Formats: sequence, structure tokens, C-alpha cells
Amino acid sequence: MTPLTELKGIGEKNAGLYMRLGIDSVESAIYHFPRDYVTYEDISGPHELYADRLIAFTASVARRPSVKRVRRLSVVNADLASGGILITSTWFNMPYLANSLKPGSVYVFRGVLTSEGDHFHIRQPQIFTEEAYSDLLGRINPIYPLTKGLTNASVSKTIKRSFEHLAGNYKQEVYDMHFPKDSETLKRARETLVYDEFLVFILRLRLMKKQGDTAHNDFGMIECAECARVIEKLPYRLTGAQLRVWDEIRSDMCSQRSMRRLVQGDVGSGKTIIAVLAAIMAGINGYQSAIMAPTEILAGQHFNNIRLLFKESGIDLKPVLLTGSMGAAAKRDVRAKIESGEASVIIGTHALFQEKVIYHNLALVVTDEQHRFGVRQRNTLSEKGDMAHVLVMSATPIPRTLAMIVYGDLDISVIDEVPAHKKPIKNAVVNESYRTKAYEFFRKEIAAGHQVYVICPLIEESEGMDARCVTEEAKELSAYFGDDIRVGMLHGQMKASEKQRVMDEFVGNYINILVSTTVVEVGVNVPNATVMMIENADRFGLAALHQLRGRIGRGAAQSYCIFMSSSSNPDTMKRLDILRSSNDGFKIAEEDLKMRGPGDMFGLRQSGDIHFRLGDIYGDSAILKKAADEASSILREDPDLSADVHADLKKAVENIAFSDVDATI
Ligand code: ADP
Ligand code: MG
Repeated sequence: MTPLTELKGIGEKNAGLYMRLGIDSVESAIYHFPRDYVTYEDISGPHELYADRLIAFTASVARRPSVKRVRRLSVVNADLASGGILITSTWFNMPYLANSLKPGSVYVFRGVLTSEGDHFHIRQPQIFTEEAYSDLLGRINPIYPLTKGLTNASVSKTIKRSFEHLAGNYKQEVYDMHFPKDSETLKRARETLVYDEFLVFILRLRLMKKQGDTAHNDFGMIECAECARVIEKLPYRLTGAQLRVWDEIRSDMCSQRSMRRLVQGDVGSGKTIIAVLAAIMAGINGYQSAIMAPTEILAGQHFNNIRLLFKESGIDLKPVLLTGSMGAAAKRDVRAKIESGEASVIIGTHALFQEKVIYHNLALVVTDEQHRFGVRQRNTLSEKGDMAHVLVMSATPIPRTLAMIVYGDLDISVIDEVPAHKKPIKNAVVNESYRTKAYEFFRKEIAAGHQVYVICPLIEESEGMDARCVTEEAKELSAYFGDDIRVGMLHGQMKASEKQRVMDEFVGNYINILVSTTVVEVGVNVPNATVMMIENADRFGLAALHQLRGRIGRGAAQSYCIFMSSSSNPDTMKRLDILRSSNDGFKIAEEDLKMRGPGDMFGLRQSGDIHFRLGDIYGDSAILKKAADEASSILREDPDLSADVHADLKKAVENIAFSDVDATI
């Protein structure tokens, strides 16, 4: 690995920023793929200036720009002349432009003109030198995921330099993903890389499954009366689907083989209680179990619920919580209880499989919201347990055919029923004109004692991303509602303790409106929240939207989900309409799959599933199937990839870098 600081122009500070994007070396930089691409428009002459569409034009700066401050904003105004045509222009928060835009100098400006009587106006246009712009023309230019402090141009340059540094030591397709000659090259490059990625992934799963099949289970268990008692004492009856899945798990755990089971169930189908029953069964049989959640918030919530349930139903097992942000002394204490065997149900985040944790006799590993973890993490934990039973819970509604391919190493149970008392969520897809009405609706629900989620795609304003952000939105809502209504904020760049505090305040109904990124997507349970408004809903995948919506509709009261979107694209509207008309995750996934052919190249590839670098198990389902067939035929010929021709493939399978937990969580 070559540190990024080897590249010209990258110092320690910059390297730190790149680290935030998951780029820790020159070798990893080239895998920071664009999230989108742009082609630049040919330059429009003075007679080709039209309002309301994105154009680029050459103009000279007519006089010295002025700069003024409006509250906390700086505003630069300049007059531009293209031919004899006047274009007034405004830039926000770029005060330095007042000096750098010299009167008489000529630039290319790019943006959307609006017609203002006798002249045009343009807001926040991009500025290029003529030379720089002609460089961009006729090419497909990458748009990268960014972080504050890095611009698209600088990331692009760093990636270009990384390729130069690697001097041809890379796959051509990887290069073509960033700097393609044409769209055909780009398409082919992507298809090849996605295929490779799927093939290696599936081979790895198949090899793991083979190991699992032959693994004898050292943790013989017998049925216990306690589980039946807990079921009896629940404030509700388990659904038929829950009972069936619980049966499957029980018989796995009492059999000779290690359990390797995936429980798929839509949000709110009641997966948690199933996991808890399995943990009780292990505990009563004298074994430890670990329940791993993807976020500290969710782990804490599980811990509290389990503690309460044990107390109420007289289960004499000790639950403990272990998360990364706990103090050193508290951690040491919990680790000691785990090692001695005093703790029998261990709940936590991925801190559970750090090396320092030594289990007394771990027999069951439950991973909640599996799609949030990499397969490697799941595996590391089960290694701690020396072929422990593995139970994986996922709300990602993957159609069964795809699930069999993607989770090929697991047996699958489906909870295909939601508890009957639940009132279906009422949905609305609306645009900006509805905003005030929505706010007034919040007020009404809050007055009735309920709570509201507002979800934004971004944490803070970001270059080139025209979407709402958590920090601004929270400010706006506070200003709108004043002191009567408390607005809180939650996002992945907050400290763990801070997040926990906000979440606790929301659970306690001290916060009325929680403005958040998709961090709340995962399993959080606040039954008192009855409204969710999702900003820029068109920016999320259907699966992700459905998961988000699953945070409401958890209590007895009627819940409402408002999908805010300004898009007028008919496909987008059709997709959102699927959500509006159905609350059934599996149906939504099937519809999504039908609508998005493999043609949807740069669709929402990270739709909340397994985090492939490029592949999208929905959009690329055709490639996925092809790769699965290829994997079968390879393993038929060469079951453990020992043939010479498969040496490279074997290496790739062994080194597969399953992506870690979503960096934004
Ligand atoms: P998920 O499958 O999304 O993880 P949870 O396990 O968090 O769902 O369950 C959601 C809510 O439904 C919880 O408050 C839980 O107590 C409740 N619940 C679970 N099973 C049932 C049931 N059979 N009847 C009624 N409520 C249930
Ligand atoms: Mg859950």
C-alpha cells in the first residue's frame, strides 16, 4: 500500500479528508468510483441564450463585481456581457469572487438563466476559463461522492494521479469507470467489474456454505419450558409466521448440524422476539449468545427491551451490553463477565468481535439487520464461537430468487405476515407547494402527543448536490415552530454519546421533531412517532424508503408518511407511487425489480442492501444470475478452486474485501 501523501499536492491534512471518504492509499483511491457523470454542453453563442435550461456561454465581466452581506450570507453581484446581451449574476458565500472576477476578463459560465424583463439573470453559475472548459467538452466527466473540504475537481485530480502512480498496474476497466472514452466504454467497464464482483462474492458464499454443511454442532440443546412461558406471557400472540419460523430455529438448534439461517421479515414483522427466544433457549441450555446490531442506538434499545422482558417473565439469565463508545472501565467489567460466563446474553455492536472479547461458551450468534454488515464481520464473530449457530435477521425485502443467490450460504425463513392489529400507514407523495400544510400537520400530531421524523439525504450542504440537509432543515424547522416545539438532529458525523443522548430524548418525547439522515433507517423503535416526512424522496431507492418508513406505524395510532419530491420525471413518480399504494416490502421489491431493468446503470445501487462497490442486486439482477451460473459451473469442475487456472480467482475469493459497516453510521 502506498500512502496518499506520496502524491504531489497531498499533505497530512488532505490525506485526513480522503480518509473520510474511505480512501487510505493510492491503491484504494482508484476504487472511489463516481456516483454520477456529466457531459458539458457546447458553448451557446449570444443568440442561443435561452432561459430555464442548463447552458454554458462565454461572457465578459462588465464592471467590478459588488459584494454585500445579508445576515450571515455574503452576496456577490456582477454584470456579464455576452455579445450585446446583459446577464446579471449572483453568487452566495463566495466573497473572493469580487476580486478574482476582473472587469473585462472573459470566462465560460454554466448554469440556468432566468428571464428578467429586458435582461437575463443567473444564480450561482459555475465559472471556467475558456481553456479549462474546452478540456471538459466532449468527455464524460466523473462526479464523485465528496466530503466537506474536498471539491470534485480535487478528488478527480487525485484519482488521476493515483492511476499515474500505479503506472499501468490496474485493470483497464477500473480506469474506464473514472475517465471513459465514451458511454459505450463506460457501460462495458461497469458490466465487467460488476460481474467480477458478483462472481467472487458468490464463490465465497458457496465455499462458506460447504464448510457449514459439514460442520458438526458441539452445542447440543434440548427444548425448554422457559421459551413457552415467555411466549405465553407476551402482551400479544405470536403470528403464525413467527411461530413457524421459531419452530424452524428450534429444530436447527436441537439438531446435529450448526444452524446457518437467515430470517427475512418485513419491517415490523416482529423479528426481534424470535432472536430473543433463540437466545433464551441457548441460555437455559447453559450457553452464551451474542446479538449484534449495526448501530449503538439499536443495540441499546435491544438491551433495554431484553432486560425488561427477562424481568417480567422471570428469566434468570444475565444480559449485558457492549459497545464501542462505552468507557474503558465499563468495557473491562463487561468483558470479564463475558469471559467468566456470568453474562449469558451479550448484546452489542461490532465491538462484540474485537479480539479482546473472550467468550466463555458462545453457542449462538445473531446478527440483526444483516444487510448493514459485511459478510466478513458476520464471519469473524462466528469464528469466536467456533462453529456456533448463526442466525441472521434482515428486513431487506429481497425477492426469494435473489435471496437464494445472494445469501447462498444460508437456509432461509420468511416471516410473511405482520401482526394484525397494525393500522396500515397512510402515504402521500407531494411537492414543495404542500410544505406549509405538512408543517401544520406536524403541529396537529404533536399537539395530540405524537412525534415526527424528518429525513434528509445530506448532513450538510455539499457542492453540486441539490438536496435538503439535516443541519439547515433543523434550523428552518426550529425557526418555523418557535419554542413550543422542540426539534432535534441526528446524523452519522455526531459522536456516539451525542447520538445516544438525542435518541434517548426522542424516545422520552422531549424532542418532538427529529431531523435525521438515514441513520434512523435501522430498526429503531419509537412507537409514539406517527409522522415521517422524507425530503428529496426521489433520491432514495425504494427499498431504503420502505425501510425508513418502517420507523413509523409501530404503535396503535394511525401513522402517516409524506414523500416530498419536486421531481416531475414520470419514472420517478411511478416509483414513488409504488410506495404510496403499498406497505408490503416484498411486493415493493418485486415491483422495483420489474421497473428497473439492467438498463438502469447509475440507479440507486446502494439501496440499503449488501454494499457492493458497484453492483446492485436489483438493477444488475441479470448479471447476478449470470455470475451465479458461472460460479456453479466453476465449482462443479473444481470444488475448492485448487486448479492452476483458478489461482487468481482463488486469491480474489480469499482476499475479498467485504465492505465494512456503512461509513456514515
Ligand atoms: P422488526 O421485524 O422490524 O425487527 P420488531 O421485532 O422490532 O420488528 O417488532 C416491532 C414491534 O411489534 C415491537 O414493538 C414488537 O413488540 C411488536 N410485535 C412483535 N410481534 C408481535 C405480534 N405477534 N403481535 C403484536 N405485536 C408484535
Ligand atoms: Mg428489527
